[in-house]
Amino acid sequence: YDSMTLQIPFDNSYAALPARFYTRQTAVPVRAPRLIRFNAALAGDLGIDVADEATLAQVFAGNAVPPGSDPLAQVYAGHQFGGFSPQLGDGRALLLGEVVDRAGHRRDIQLKGSGPTPYSRMGDGRAWLGPVLREYVVSEAMHALGLPTTRALAAVETGEPVYRETGGMPGAVLTRVAASHLRVGTFQYFAARRDIEGLRALYDYTVTRHYPQIEGPAHLLAEVIRRQAKLVAGWLSVGFIHGVMNTDNTAISGETIDYGPCAFMDTYHPQQVFSSIDAHGRYAYDNQPHVIVWNMAQFATALVPLMPDQDAAIEEFTALVHAMPDRIETEWRRSFGRKIGIENASTEDAALIADLLTRMAEGRADFTNTFRGLLDGTARDQFLDRDAFDTWAEAWHARIAREHDPETVMRAANPSVIPRNHRVEQMIDAAVSGDYAPFERLLSVLANPFEDQPDAADLTRPPDPAEVVHATFCG
Ligand code: AMP
Ligand code: MG
Ligand code: MG
Repeated sequence: YDSMTLQIPFDNSYAALPARFYTRQTAVPVRAPRLIRFNAALAGDLGIDVADEATLAQVFAGNAVPPGSDPLAQVYAGHQFGGFSPQLGDGRALLLGEVVDRAGHRRDIQLKGSGPTPYSRMGDGRAWLGPVLREYVVSEAMHALGLPTTRALAAVETGEPVYRETGGMPGAVLTRVAASHLRVGTFQYFAARRDIEGLRALYDYTVTRHYPQIEGPAHLLAEVIRRQAKLVAGWLSVGFIHGVMNTDNTAISGETIDYGPCAFMDTYHPQQVFSSIDAHGRYAYDNQPHVIVWNMAQFATALVPLMPDQDAAIEEFTALVHAMPDRIETEWRRSFGRKIGIENASTEDAALIADLLTRMAEGRADFTNTFRGLLDGTARDQFLDRDAFDTWAEAWHARIAREHDPETVMRAANPSVIPRNHRVEQMIDAAVSGDYAPFERLLSVLANPFEDQPDAADLTRPPDPAEVVHATFCG
Protein backbone atom coordinates (compact mmCIF):
# COMPACT_ATOMS: atom_id res chain seq x y z
CA TYR A 1 0.00 0.00 0.00
CA ASP A 2 0.89 3.69 -0.18
CA SER A 3 3.63 4.21 2.39
CA MET A 4 2.44 7.74 3.05
CA THR A 5 -0.89 6.61 4.49
CA LEU A 6 -1.42 5.06 7.87
CA GLN A 7 -3.77 2.07 8.07
CA ILE A 8 -6.22 2.64 10.92
CA PRO A 9 -9.19 0.24 10.91
CA PHE A 10 -11.85 2.93 11.36
CA ASP A 11 -15.40 1.86 12.11
CA ASN A 12 -17.28 5.08 12.79
CA SER A 13 -20.62 5.21 14.56
CA TYR A 14 -20.86 8.74 16.00
CA ALA A 15 -20.83 10.23 12.51
CA ALA A 16 -24.03 8.29 11.79
CA LEU A 17 -25.90 10.16 14.53
CA PRO A 18 -28.10 13.12 13.49
CA ALA A 19 -26.19 16.05 12.01
CA ARG A 20 -26.94 18.31 15.00
CA PHE A 21 -24.70 16.12 17.23
CA TYR A 22 -21.52 17.52 15.66
CA THR A 23 -19.95 19.55 12.92
CA ARG A 24 -17.80 17.88 10.30
CA GLN A 25 -14.47 19.66 10.39
CA THR A 26 -10.94 19.01 9.24
CA ALA A 27 -7.80 19.86 11.15
CA VAL A 28 -5.89 22.97 10.16
CA PRO A 29 -2.54 21.79 8.76
CA VAL A 30 0.60 22.80 10.62
CA ARG A 31 3.90 23.94 9.22
CA ALA A 32 6.47 21.39 10.32
CA PRO A 33 5.08 18.39 12.18
CA ARG A 34 7.61 16.34 14.07
CA LEU A 35 6.76 13.16 15.95
CA ILE A 36 7.56 13.34 19.66
CA ARG A 37 6.23 9.95 20.59
CA PHE A 38 4.03 7.19 19.29
CA ASN A 39 2.54 4.66 21.71
CA ALA A 40 3.24 1.54 19.66
CA ALA A 41 1.86 -0.85 22.31
CA LEU A 42 -1.48 0.95 22.40
CA ALA A 43 -1.49 1.21 18.61
CA GLY A 44 -1.07 -2.57 18.50
CA ASP A 45 -4.13 -3.02 20.75
CA LEU A 46 -6.07 -0.79 18.36
CA GLY A 47 -4.98 -2.71 15.27
CA ILE A 48 -3.03 0.24 13.87
CA ASP A 49 -0.12 -0.67 11.64
CA VAL A 50 3.26 0.81 12.33
CA ALA A 51 4.37 3.44 9.82
CA ASP A 52 7.43 5.60 9.35
CA GLU A 53 7.86 8.60 11.63
CA ALA A 54 7.13 11.16 8.91
CA THR A 55 3.78 9.53 8.15
CA LEU A 56 2.87 9.30 11.83
CA ALA A 57 3.77 12.96 12.27
CA GLN A 58 1.58 13.99 9.31
CA VAL A 59 -1.42 11.99 10.49
CA PHE A 60 -1.21 12.88 14.18
CA ALA A 61 -0.68 16.56 13.45
CA GLY A 62 -3.86 16.53 11.38
CA ASN A 63 -2.03 17.29 8.11
CA ALA A 64 -3.04 14.03 6.46
CA VAL A 65 -6.46 12.45 6.86
CA PRO A 66 -6.02 8.68 7.07
CA PRO A 67 -8.39 6.56 4.98
CA GLY A 68 -11.70 5.91 6.74
CA SER A 69 -11.41 8.91 9.04
CA ASP A 70 -14.46 11.19 9.09
CA PRO A 71 -13.28 14.02 11.33
CA LEU A 72 -15.81 15.95 13.37
CA ALA A 73 -16.14 18.25 16.38
CA GLN A 74 -18.69 17.09 18.96
CA VAL A 75 -21.16 19.49 20.53
CA TYR A 76 -22.05 19.41 24.22
CA ALA A 77 -23.08 21.69 27.08
CA GLY A 78 -21.94 21.77 30.68
CA HIS A 79 -21.80 23.26 34.12
CA GLN A 80 -18.45 24.99 34.43
CA PHE A 81 -17.64 25.82 38.07
CA GLY A 82 -21.37 25.51 38.75
CA GLY A 83 -22.58 27.87 36.00
CA PHE A 84 -24.44 26.37 33.04
CA SER A 85 -23.23 26.91 29.46
CA PRO A 86 -25.91 25.63 27.07
CA GLN A 87 -23.43 25.22 24.26
CA LEU A 88 -19.83 24.09 24.44
CA GLY A 89 -18.12 21.57 22.22
CA ASP A 90 -14.77 20.44 20.92
CA GLY A 91 -13.13 23.83 20.57
CA ARG A 92 -9.67 22.50 19.92
CA ALA A 93 -10.29 18.81 19.40
CA LEU A 94 -11.45 16.58 16.57
CA LEU A 95 -12.75 13.06 16.61
CA LEU A 96 -10.85 11.29 13.82
CA GLY A 97 -13.12 8.27 14.15
CA GLU A 98 -13.53 5.04 16.07
CA VAL A 99 -11.89 1.66 16.00
CA VAL A 100 -12.93 -1.62 17.57
CA ASP A 101 -9.88 -2.77 19.50
CA ARG A 102 -8.46 -6.30 19.77
CA ALA A 103 -10.59 -6.88 22.90
CA GLY A 104 -13.73 -5.93 20.99
CA HIS A 105 -14.16 -2.50 22.62
CA ARG A 106 -15.06 0.54 20.56
CA ARG A 107 -12.58 3.38 21.13
CA ASP A 108 -12.50 7.01 19.98
CA ILE A 109 -9.34 8.43 18.43
CA GLN A 110 -9.22 12.18 18.97
CA LEU A 111 -6.76 14.93 18.10
CA LYS A 112 -6.40 17.68 20.69
CA GLY A 113 -4.85 20.96 19.62
CA SER A 114 -5.79 20.56 15.95
CA GLY A 115 -7.13 24.08 15.28
CA PRO A 116 -10.36 26.03 15.69
CA THR A 117 -13.85 24.63 15.23
CA PRO A 118 -17.30 26.24 15.37
CA TYR A 119 -17.21 25.56 19.13
CA SER A 120 -13.91 27.33 19.86
CA ARG A 121 -14.09 29.80 22.70
CA MET A 122 -11.62 32.55 23.38
CA GLY A 123 -8.87 30.51 21.84
CA ASP A 124 -6.99 29.45 18.79
CA GLY A 125 -7.94 25.80 18.94
CA ARG A 126 -4.32 24.97 19.63
CA ALA A 127 -2.40 23.50 22.52
CA TRP A 128 1.16 24.11 23.57
CA LEU A 129 3.71 21.48 24.40
CA GLY A 130 3.27 21.72 28.21
CA PRO A 131 -0.32 20.49 28.53
CA VAL A 132 0.19 17.94 25.76
CA LEU A 133 3.13 16.32 27.54
CA ARG A 134 1.41 16.59 30.94
CA GLU A 135 -1.67 14.78 29.63
CA TYR A 136 0.50 12.19 27.90
CA VAL A 137 2.46 11.38 31.07
CA VAL A 138 -0.38 11.68 33.58
CA SER A 139 -2.95 9.70 31.58
CA GLU A 140 -0.48 6.88 30.92
CA ALA A 141 0.50 6.92 34.62
CA MET A 142 -3.19 6.75 35.58
CA HIS A 143 -3.59 3.70 33.36
CA ALA A 144 -0.57 2.02 34.94
CA LEU A 145 -2.04 2.78 38.37
CA GLY A 146 -5.03 0.70 37.31
CA LEU A 147 -7.59 3.51 37.08
CA PRO A 148 -9.94 3.98 34.09
CA THR A 149 -8.64 6.74 31.85
CA THR A 150 -8.25 7.99 28.33
CA ARG A 151 -4.90 6.96 26.85
CA ALA A 152 -2.23 8.78 24.90
CA LEU A 153 -1.54 7.44 21.41
CA ALA A 154 0.77 10.11 20.00
CA ALA A 155 2.28 13.53 20.55
CA VAL A 156 3.52 15.75 17.73
CA GLU A 157 5.22 19.14 17.69
CA THR A 158 3.63 21.43 15.13
CA GLY A 159 6.64 23.62 14.36
CA GLU A 160 4.43 26.65 15.02
CA PRO A 161 4.34 28.86 18.09
CA VAL A 162 1.24 29.16 20.27
CA TYR A 163 0.80 32.39 22.22
CA ARG A 164 -0.06 32.10 25.92
CA GLU A 165 0.39 34.27 29.08
CA THR A 166 4.02 33.22 29.11
CA GLY A 167 4.62 34.27 25.48
CA GLY A 168 5.25 32.14 22.40
CA MET A 169 5.44 28.46 23.23
CA PRO A 170 5.99 25.46 20.94
CA GLY A 171 2.67 24.16 19.62
CA ALA A 172 1.76 20.49 19.88
CA VAL A 173 -1.05 18.05 19.17
CA LEU A 174 -2.00 15.14 21.42
CA THR A 175 -3.82 12.11 20.08
CA ARG A 176 -5.89 10.47 22.74
CA VAL A 177 -7.98 7.34 22.88
CA ALA A 178 -11.19 7.11 24.90
CA ALA A 179 -13.92 4.53 25.46
CA SER A 180 -15.96 7.46 24.15
CA HIS A 181 -16.19 11.22 24.56
CA LEU A 182 -19.80 11.09 25.72
CA ARG A 183 -20.08 13.46 28.65
CA VAL A 184 -22.72 14.42 31.21
CA GLY A 185 -22.66 17.66 29.23
CA THR A 186 -23.65 15.84 26.03
CA PHE A 187 -26.93 14.82 27.68
CA GLN A 188 -27.33 18.32 29.11
CA TYR A 189 -27.01 19.82 25.64
CA PHE A 190 -30.10 18.04 24.30
CA ALA A 191 -32.07 18.27 27.55
CA ALA A 192 -31.51 22.04 27.81
CA ARG A 193 -32.78 22.54 24.25
CA ARG A 194 -35.77 20.27 24.94
CA ASP A 195 -34.63 18.21 21.97
CA ILE A 196 -36.18 15.00 23.22
CA GLU A 197 -35.64 13.19 19.95
CA GLY A 198 -31.93 14.02 20.15
CA LEU A 199 -31.82 13.01 23.82
CA ARG A 200 -33.46 9.69 22.94
CA ALA A 201 -30.96 9.08 20.12
CA LEU A 202 -28.10 9.89 22.50
CA TYR A 203 -29.53 7.56 25.15
CA ASP A 204 -29.89 4.72 22.64
CA TYR A 205 -26.38 5.31 21.33
CA THR A 206 -24.92 5.33 24.86
CA VAL A 207 -26.68 2.14 25.87
CA THR A 208 -25.60 0.30 22.73
CA ARG A 209 -22.02 1.48 23.07
CA HIS A 210 -21.38 1.24 26.82
CA TYR A 211 -24.21 -0.42 28.69
CA PRO A 212 -25.89 -3.01 26.43
CA GLN A 213 -27.29 -4.86 29.46
CA ILE A 214 -29.25 -1.98 30.96
CA GLU A 215 -32.99 -1.43 30.91
CA GLY A 216 -34.10 2.17 31.05
CA PRO A 217 -32.68 5.57 32.05
CA ALA A 218 -32.82 4.85 35.81
CA HIS A 219 -30.63 1.83 35.23
CA LEU A 220 -28.22 3.91 33.12
CA LEU A 221 -28.03 6.50 35.89
CA ALA A 222 -27.33 3.78 38.47
CA GLU A 223 -24.53 2.32 36.33
CA VAL A 224 -22.83 5.65 35.65
CA ILE A 225 -23.08 6.46 39.37
CA ARG A 226 -21.47 3.11 40.17
CA ARG A 227 -18.56 3.70 37.80
CA GLN A 228 -18.01 7.31 38.83
CA ALA A 229 -18.10 6.42 42.54
CA LYS A 230 -15.39 3.88 41.92
CA LEU A 231 -13.36 6.26 39.79
CA VAL A 232 -13.38 9.15 42.26
CA ALA A 233 -12.53 6.82 45.17
CA GLY A 234 -9.65 5.60 43.00
CA TRP A 235 -8.43 9.17 42.44
CA LEU A 236 -8.51 9.81 46.19
CA SER A 237 -6.51 6.65 46.82
CA VAL A 238 -3.61 7.90 44.71
CA GLY A 239 -3.80 11.55 45.78
CA PHE A 240 -5.10 12.76 42.40
CA ILE A 241 -6.84 16.09 41.97
CA HIS A 242 -8.56 16.44 38.59
CA GLY A 243 -8.80 20.20 38.86
CA VAL A 244 -11.75 20.85 36.49
CA MET A 245 -14.59 18.48 37.36
CA ASN A 246 -17.10 20.36 35.24
CA THR A 247 -20.01 18.28 33.93
CA ASP A 248 -18.52 18.52 30.43
CA ASN A 249 -15.39 16.84 31.80
CA THR A 250 -17.30 13.95 33.39
CA ALA A 251 -17.40 10.94 31.09
CA ILE A 252 -20.39 8.63 30.84
CA SER A 253 -17.96 5.72 30.40
CA GLY A 254 -16.48 6.30 33.87
CA GLU A 255 -13.03 7.10 32.53
CA THR A 256 -10.85 9.97 33.70
CA ILE A 257 -11.07 12.51 30.90
CA ASP A 258 -9.89 16.02 30.00
CA TYR A 259 -6.65 16.35 31.89
CA GLY A 260 -6.02 20.03 32.40
CA PRO A 261 -4.57 21.67 35.51
CA CYS A 262 -4.61 18.32 37.30
CA ALA A 263 -2.01 17.15 39.80
CA PHE A 264 -1.00 14.51 42.29
CA MET A 265 -0.47 15.71 45.85
CA ASP A 266 2.89 15.55 47.55
CA THR A 267 2.22 16.66 51.15
CA TYR A 268 -1.20 15.44 52.23
CA HIS A 269 -3.73 18.16 52.75
CA PRO A 270 -7.44 17.42 52.28
CA GLN A 271 -8.20 20.90 50.93
CA GLN A 272 -5.32 20.88 48.44
CA VAL A 273 -5.97 22.76 45.17
CA PHE A 274 -3.49 23.25 42.32
CA SER A 275 -5.55 24.62 39.45
CA SER A 276 -4.84 28.30 38.87
CA ILE A 277 -8.48 28.81 37.81
CA ASP A 278 -10.04 27.17 40.88
CA ALA A 279 -10.05 30.26 43.09
CA HIS A 280 -12.59 28.97 45.63
CA GLY A 281 -11.38 25.40 45.88
CA ARG A 282 -14.53 23.95 44.33
CA TYR A 283 -12.47 21.06 42.99
CA ALA A 284 -10.16 20.60 46.00
CA TYR A 285 -8.99 17.05 46.80
CA ASP A 286 -11.66 16.21 49.34
CA ASN A 287 -14.45 18.09 47.56
CA GLN A 288 -14.23 15.66 44.63
CA PRO A 289 -16.66 13.13 46.18
CA HIS A 290 -19.20 15.92 46.71
CA VAL A 291 -18.74 17.35 43.24
CA ILE A 292 -19.24 14.01 41.52
CA VAL A 293 -22.55 13.57 43.36
CA TRP A 294 -23.57 17.06 42.20
CA ASN A 295 -22.54 16.15 38.64
CA MET A 296 -24.60 12.96 38.79
CA ALA A 297 -27.58 15.06 39.94
CA GLN A 298 -27.14 17.12 36.75
CA PHE A 299 -26.98 13.90 34.74
CA ALA A 300 -30.18 12.71 36.42
CA THR A 301 -31.88 16.01 35.60
CA ALA A 302 -30.93 15.62 31.94
CA LEU A 303 -32.42 12.10 31.84
CA VAL A 304 -35.82 13.09 33.28
CA PRO A 305 -37.36 14.19 29.94
CA LEU A 306 -36.91 10.60 28.70
CA MET A 307 -39.36 9.33 31.31
CA PRO A 308 -43.09 9.01 30.69
CA ASP A 309 -43.95 9.77 34.34
CA GLN A 310 -41.59 12.59 35.25
CA ASP A 311 -42.70 13.00 38.87
CA ALA A 312 -42.05 9.34 39.53
CA ALA A 313 -38.73 9.59 37.68
CA ILE A 314 -37.60 12.53 39.78
CA GLU A 315 -38.33 10.55 42.91
CA GLU A 316 -36.51 7.47 41.65
CA PHE A 317 -33.48 9.41 40.34
CA THR A 318 -33.23 11.46 43.53
CA ALA A 319 -33.03 8.27 45.57
CA LEU A 320 -30.20 6.99 43.36
CA VAL A 321 -28.24 10.25 43.67
CA HIS A 322 -28.81 10.39 47.41
CA ALA A 323 -27.43 6.88 47.76
CA MET A 324 -24.21 7.84 45.98
CA PRO A 325 -22.28 9.25 48.97
CA ASP A 326 -22.60 5.90 50.76
CA ARG A 327 -21.39 4.14 47.66
CA ILE A 328 -18.35 6.42 47.42
CA GLU A 329 -17.69 5.87 51.12
CA THR A 330 -17.76 2.10 50.55
CA GLU A 331 -15.37 2.36 47.58
CA TRP A 332 -13.14 4.71 49.59
CA ARG A 333 -13.03 2.30 52.51
CA ARG A 334 -12.19 -0.58 50.17
CA SER A 335 -9.36 1.37 48.46
CA PHE A 336 -7.87 2.90 51.57
CA GLY A 337 -8.33 -0.35 53.50
CA ARG A 338 -6.03 -2.04 50.99
CA LYS A 339 -3.56 0.82 51.35
CA ILE A 340 -3.10 -0.14 55.02
CA GLY A 341 -3.17 -3.88 54.28
CA ILE A 342 -6.80 -4.69 55.04
CA GLU A 343 -8.61 -6.67 52.37
CA ASN A 344 -12.21 -5.94 53.39
CA ALA A 345 -12.18 -2.87 55.58
CA SER A 346 -15.12 -2.45 57.97
CA THR A 347 -16.61 0.83 59.19
CA GLU A 348 -14.45 0.38 62.28
CA ASP A 349 -11.40 0.13 60.04
CA ALA A 350 -12.54 3.35 58.35
CA ALA A 351 -11.92 5.14 61.64
CA LEU A 352 -8.37 3.77 61.68
CA ILE A 353 -7.80 5.05 58.13
CA ALA A 354 -9.31 8.46 58.93
CA ASP A 355 -7.10 8.71 62.02
CA LEU A 356 -3.99 8.11 59.91
CA LEU A 357 -5.07 10.78 57.41
CA THR A 358 -5.66 13.31 60.19
CA ARG A 359 -2.20 12.64 61.57
CA MET A 360 -0.73 12.88 58.05
CA ALA A 361 -2.30 16.31 57.54
CA GLU A 362 -1.07 17.52 60.92
CA GLY A 363 2.35 15.95 60.38
CA ARG A 364 2.69 17.37 56.83
CA ALA A 365 3.38 13.86 55.60
CA ASP A 366 3.96 13.00 51.97
CA PHE A 367 0.87 11.10 50.75
CA THR A 368 2.54 8.56 48.46
CA ASN A 369 5.63 7.92 50.57
CA THR A 370 3.67 7.49 53.80
CA PHE A 371 1.55 4.69 52.38
CA ARG A 372 4.41 3.06 50.49
CA GLY A 373 6.54 3.49 53.61
CA LEU A 374 4.16 1.25 55.57
CA LEU A 375 5.88 -1.61 53.73
CA ASP A 376 9.43 -0.91 54.84
CA GLY A 377 9.10 1.06 58.06
CA THR A 378 9.89 4.46 56.54
CA ALA A 379 6.36 5.85 56.91
CA ARG A 380 7.19 7.43 60.27
CA ASP A 381 9.99 9.46 58.68
CA GLN A 382 7.35 11.38 56.73
CA PHE A 383 5.86 12.93 59.87
CA LEU A 384 6.97 16.09 61.66
CA ASP A 385 5.86 14.39 64.88
CA ARG A 386 6.95 10.77 64.66
CA ASP A 387 5.31 9.88 67.98
CA ALA A 388 1.96 10.75 66.39
CA PHE A 389 2.64 8.10 63.76
CA ASP A 390 3.93 5.56 66.27
CA THR A 391 0.76 5.84 68.35
CA TRP A 392 -1.33 5.13 65.25
CA ALA A 393 0.99 2.31 64.15
CA GLU A 394 0.43 0.42 67.40
CA ALA A 395 -3.31 0.17 66.73
CA TRP A 396 -2.59 -0.62 63.09
CA HIS A 397 -0.20 -3.49 63.86
CA ALA A 398 -2.77 -5.00 66.20
CA ARG A 399 -5.36 -4.80 63.43
CA ILE A 400 -3.33 -6.24 60.55
CA ALA A 401 -2.19 -9.15 62.69
CA ARG A 402 -5.63 -10.54 61.80
CA GLU A 403 -5.06 -10.15 58.02
CA HIS A 404 -3.89 -12.99 55.80
CA ASP A 405 -1.22 -11.22 53.70
CA PRO A 406 -1.22 -7.47 54.33
CA GLU A 407 2.12 -6.91 52.64
CA THR A 408 0.98 -8.20 49.26
CA VAL A 409 -2.24 -6.20 49.54
CA MET A 410 -0.31 -3.00 50.35
CA ARG A 411 2.26 -3.54 47.63
CA ALA A 412 -0.49 -3.65 45.02
CA ALA A 413 -2.34 -0.62 46.44
CA ASN A 414 0.47 1.82 47.21
CA PRO A 415 2.54 3.05 44.28
CA SER A 416 6.18 3.87 44.92
CA VAL A 417 6.16 6.46 42.17
CA ILE A 418 3.56 8.90 40.85
CA PRO A 419 3.93 11.79 38.36
CA ARG A 420 4.99 14.39 40.87
CA ASN A 421 4.20 17.93 39.86
CA HIS A 422 7.70 19.29 40.06
CA ARG A 423 9.02 16.43 37.93
CA VAL A 424 6.29 17.04 35.37
CA GLU A 425 7.16 20.76 35.28
CA GLN A 426 10.88 20.01 35.01
CA MET A 427 10.12 17.57 32.20
CA ILE A 428 8.14 20.25 30.34
CA ASP A 429 10.90 22.83 30.78
CA ALA A 430 13.44 20.36 29.40
CA ALA A 431 11.22 19.50 26.41
CA VAL A 432 10.68 23.17 25.59
CA SER A 433 14.45 23.48 25.32
CA GLY A 434 14.61 20.39 23.12
CA ASP A 435 15.54 17.72 25.67
CA TYR A 436 12.99 14.89 25.69
CA ALA A 437 15.02 12.54 27.89
CA PRO A 438 13.07 13.43 31.09
CA PHE A 439 9.77 12.84 29.24
CA GLU A 440 10.89 9.40 28.07
CA ARG A 441 12.25 8.54 31.50
CA LEU A 442 9.06 9.57 33.32
CA LEU A 443 7.02 7.44 30.94
CA SER A 444 9.19 4.39 31.40
CA VAL A 445 9.37 4.66 35.21
CA LEU A 446 5.67 5.43 35.62
CA ALA A 447 4.74 2.38 33.55
CA ASN A 448 5.53 0.21 36.61
CA PRO A 449 4.40 2.28 39.59
CA PHE A 450 4.03 -0.60 42.04
CA GLU A 451 7.56 -1.88 41.59
CA ASP A 452 10.51 -0.74 43.65
CA GLN A 453 12.77 1.07 41.20
CA PRO A 454 16.08 1.86 42.89
CA ASP A 455 17.28 3.70 39.77
CA ALA A 456 14.36 6.10 40.03
CA ALA A 457 14.82 7.17 43.67
CA ASP A 458 14.99 10.80 42.54
CA LEU A 459 11.47 10.51 41.11
CA THR A 460 10.05 9.18 44.38
CA ARG A 461 11.31 12.11 46.47
CA PRO A 462 8.99 14.98 47.36
CA PRO A 463 10.05 18.38 45.99
CA ASP A 464 12.61 20.54 47.76
CA PRO A 465 11.05 23.79 48.98
CA ALA A 466 12.38 25.57 45.88
CA GLU A 467 10.91 22.92 43.57
CA VAL A 468 7.34 22.99 44.92
CA VAL A 469 4.75 23.72 42.24
CA HIS A 470 1.93 25.78 43.73
CA ALA A 471 -0.31 26.15 40.70
CA THR A 472 -1.00 24.29 37.49
CA PHE A 473 -2.41 25.95 34.40
CA CYS A 474 -4.80 25.09 31.59
CA GLY A 475 -3.63 24.62 28.02
P1 AMP B 1 -11.36 22.26 28.15
O1 AMP B 1 -10.35 23.08 28.86
O2 AMP B 1 -10.75 21.40 27.08
O3 AMP B 1 -12.26 21.46 29.08
O4 AMP B 1 -12.27 23.28 27.33
C1 AMP B 1 -13.35 24.06 27.78
C2 AMP B 1 -13.99 24.71 26.54
O5 AMP B 1 -13.14 25.70 25.97
C3 AMP B 1 -14.26 23.72 25.43
O6 AMP B 1 -15.39 24.14 24.71
C4 AMP B 1 -12.99 23.82 24.62
O7 AMP B 1 -13.16 23.29 23.37
C5 AMP B 1 -12.72 25.32 24.65
N1 AMP B 1 -11.28 25.60 24.47
C6 AMP B 1 -10.30 25.31 25.33
N2 AMP B 1 -9.09 25.69 24.88
C7 AMP B 1 -9.29 26.22 23.66
C8 AMP B 1 -8.43 26.80 22.66
N3 AMP B 1 -7.11 26.85 22.79
N4 AMP B 1 -9.01 27.27 21.53
C9 AMP B 1 -10.34 27.20 21.37
N5 AMP B 1 -11.20 26.68 22.26
C10 AMP B 1 -10.70 26.19 23.40
MG1 MG C 1 -23.65 19.27 12.27
MG1 MG D 1 -13.12 19.75 28.63
